[in-house]
Amino acid sequence: MKTIDQIAAELQGYDPQALPAADVARFLSLLVTPVTERLELPLFEALGRVLADDVISPFDVPPHDNSAMDGYAFDGAALASGTALQLKVVGTALAGKAWQGTVAAGQCLKIMTGAIMPAGLDTVVPQEFVTVLGDRIAIPPKLLQTGDNRRLRGEDLMQGRAALSKGELLTPARLGLVASLGMKTVSTLRPLRVAYFSTGDEILSLGETPREGAVYDSNRYTVFGMLKRMGCEVIDMGVVRDEPALLEAAFISAAVQADAIITSGGVSVGEADYTKAMMKQLGDVAFWRVAMRPGRPMAVGRIAQAKTGSSPFPTSADSSQNHSNPSGASRFAAGPPQGETAPPGGSEPHEVGSVGAILFGLPGNPVAVMVTFLAFVRPALLQMMGCTAAAPPLLKARSLEAMRKKPGRTEYQRGTVSSAADGSLEVKTTGNQGSGVLSSMAQANGLIVLHHSQGNVATGDEVDVMMFDGCI
Ligand code: AMP
Ligand code: MG
Repeated sequence: MKTIDQIAAELQGYDPQALPAADVARFLSLLVTPVTERLELPLFEALGRVLADDVISPFDVPPHDNSAMDGYAFDGAALASGTALQLKVVGTALAGKAWQGTVAAGQCLKIMTGAIMPAGLDTVVPQEFVTVLGDRIAIPPKLLQTGDNRRLRGEDLMQGRAALSKGELLTPARLGLVASLGMKTVSTLRPLRVAYFSTGDEILSLGETPREGAVYDSNRYTVFGMLKRMGCEVIDMGVVRDEPALLEAAFISAAVQADAIITSGGVSVGEADYTKAMMKQLGDVAFWRVAMRPGRPMAVGRIAQAKTGSSPFPTSADSSQNHSNPSGASRFAAGPPQGETAPPGGSEPHEVGSVGAILFGLPGNPVAVMVTFLAFVRPALLQMMGCTAAAPPLLKARSLEAMRKKPGRTEYQRGTVSSAADGSLEVKTTGNQGSGVLSSMAQANGLIVLHHSQGNVATGDEVDVMMFDGCI
């Protein structure tokens, strides 16, 4: 396990005050590690889980050569003459049972889709191409080649080979593939437990009476939704008031129960609150200004589930940098607040042990929360889930409007991507792009990604888009 300082030292030109988006992704990939606990699950419960092992095919699929069509099976050697063929029909092979008998030269077998091809037969003529003449069929010349309309044994999956690989997400198609191997259960990695709470004294929980200057907590719901879509177990901790004892209790309880903690708010520069101070006190945390819009401030690191004064983290070699903490005992000296003996929610402490949980301290603005989640938190959580899939590719779309963009930061504009008359993709922004304008996110079907070194976009220019698809 590397400390924040050790990871920072690996990044060329690391500048926490102006961290490029690409560096954030790289930093997080060095910070997190995949879970290892396994869960053997019945197939109906395994959708969206990550495979803990390769799935090895115990037999060939299909197990026999079989017909791909309703028609007549025969020995393709007869096609060598290049002329029309007349073959005598000597029986019918149905799917589900092997036909007993032999088919001699000049003969054929009526066969149904999926029926086993008897030995010596390798070609099927679909029934719509033949003329039936009593007990014989006529096949026109130059219609077929040897092997046509036959499915080969093992062409889908070969016995002893990996049908699926460790780290793959169980999609509907993959569930079906496992089922086709006759397996009732599958070995998965356990789901991630992610704790979330909102911070900020101006944040109202639903049901609270509105008051001047206060806003309802929307981040709790957007983050909940995005985590659920990923298959995470969400530990919802609501809104935590800006009081040291409450924040400390929340962080420790979250670190005991969860693999990761996500918070929103309280990480901006000049915030007059205790959130950052508590993160510093309880964890090994970096505070960043990311070169991006929206979503500049971010805190990332580990929070200990400390019950004692000793630090679970290796002592930092260099504690002089602004992102590092006072090392050693003082970091955890506070301990749990009075009366806090067991975490609320009743979850068992898990394998992370004294290491605690990964922290993603997101900004408060509702759009910034979603954008930073999609850009950074989601890939990091997928890595923690043990998922090895590459990120979905960005698509190219023609911009229907000009966009002002300063080189030196990554900008994520909310966009509506659609198909133009010629079938190519085009995109327009969803109006007001303010980082608090959640309706822009609700309308959009993707993010327009304007990269770090990119400048202004003219109407008609091609831009990259990240589609939301199933993510939000
Ligand atoms: P902060 O990052 O705490 O400075 O918050 C930035 C803006 O986001 C402020 O306008 C907050 O009112 C708003 N905000 C913070 N947390 C939430 C939340 N949980 N739900 C909705 N808006 C929020
Ligand atoms: Mg705030």
